[in-house]
Amino acid sequence: MIVHSFHGGIHPPDNKHFTNRIPFKYLSIPQKSFIPLQQHIGKPATPVVEAGQFVEEGQLIGQANGLISANVHATVPGKVVEIAEYHTPYSEHGLCVVIESDGSFNTSGRVRQKNDFLTLDKEALIGKVQSAGIVGLGGAAFPTSVKLNPPANRTIDTLIINGSECEPYLTVDDMLMRTHPEEIIEGTQIAMKILGINKAYIGIEKNKPLAIKALQTAAANVKTHEITIIPLNMRYPQGAEKQLIYAITGREVPSGGLPMDVHVVVQNVGTIYAIREAVLFDKPLIERYITVTGKIVRKPGNYKVRFGMRVSDILEECGGLAENPSKIIMGGPMCGLALNHMDIPVVKGTSGILFLAKDETKVTPFRSCIRCGRCVSVCPMNLMPCDLGNAAEKQRYDIAEKLHPFDCIMCGSCSYICPSKRPLSHFIKVVQTALSAKR
Ligand code: SF4
Ligand code: SF4
Repeated sequence: MIVHSFHGGIHPPDNKHFTNRIPFKYLSIPQKSFIPLQQHIGKPATPVVEAGQFVEEGQLIGQANGLISANVHATVPGKVVEIAEYHTPYSEHGLCVVIESDGSFNTSGRVRQKNDFLTLDKEALIGKVQSAGIVGLGGAAFPTSVKLNPPANRTIDTLIINGSECEPYLTVDDMLMRTHPEEIIEGTQIAMKILGINKAYIGIEKNKPLAIKALQTAAANVKTHEITIIPLNMRYPQGAEKQLIYAITGREVPSGGLPMDVHVVVQNVGTIYAIREAVLFDKPLIERYITVTGKIVRKPGNYKVRFGMRVSDILEECGGLAENPSKIIMGGPMCGLALNHMDIPVVKGTSGILFLAKDETKVTPFRSCIRCGRCVSVCPMNLMPCDLGNAAEKQRYDIAEKLHPFDCIMCGSCSYICPSKRPLSHFIKVVQTALSAKR
């Protein structure tokens, strides 16, 4: 049952016009790359190189540490100058392999032999995904080889590819679908073979008509699998896993549950593209497309960037800023991470960098709740953000615990809509942190 939407949600200005017509461009390689060993959910990778060692582009530099972890590869060739703690998007003290580029690339642009995925079995395919260090590129950064290999007692019958890109400002998935539709369809077929299923949907919001058309055309050529493109109503957070699953299948993931509980696996379009590169060309995940945007960026656009390149280096390549930014966000404005400086590297889960001007980030002090109920009506998880916020403010975590705080997907819709400007999702994060520490 396709319902094309979900309960709640908001319609923030999408601000995609800054970059949604700008074709992909490669950024130059920085002189120094700071490659974090933790770019994923789970344990950090273990370094397998030493300071002073020369590495090739794509060489393994961090070995996955256990099941929920991911390999990390050299994104540039050069000399490992140190392995030390630096500020990363996920930690102020994240261990990084710092590589000074020596400028001699021997794999970029090389014509690689194409593997025939039809001749490979599930284990071999998953092995290639795991070895390439692929994680969810939609932002969650969960190791993809684990997601594509659910426990034997969970039956999967549907694959959903997330092309909704509902976050304002970001246009990188839209551009990828418009320019590489055949590759995305081929990647979808590979993921379907791994999962042993024959049905997939690609969900795309209706504000991306060119992407919808391109993928419909590419999918029409597939005779062996059923791949259906689903235009979705525009509403944030349409791209959240549970909301996407409901919009496309009508199935509701239970509280505390996972997509596999309703027989579904969800992958982002960028991840599907990376799966194809890994399986067909044995290409490790060392780069991705990101959107660099905001009205104060001199050359906003959709850029291909190597992991480990710092925001300051990226900004220089993008012509700098017309004025000092008031806020810098890695990702989109709703779910992204606010950065307090620019010496932070891009990682696998970075979908964009947004620079906001002073007049776009007015901070007004929050006031008391007036019980208007707007936060409740927009919450896609059917929570009571107002009550959670009130409990958090009074540090009554005993009350908050009964209001299902861990079902919150941190979409920020409640904070966005609140007329009293209450930082509700921040309050809920505080509750989650306090309760987690108690457990
Ligand atoms: S939207 Fe804000 S003011 Fe209205 S009920 Fe929720 S917390 Fe209270
Ligand atoms: S409570 Fe959580 S899930 Fe609900 S609107 Fe707020 S941030 Fe989103």
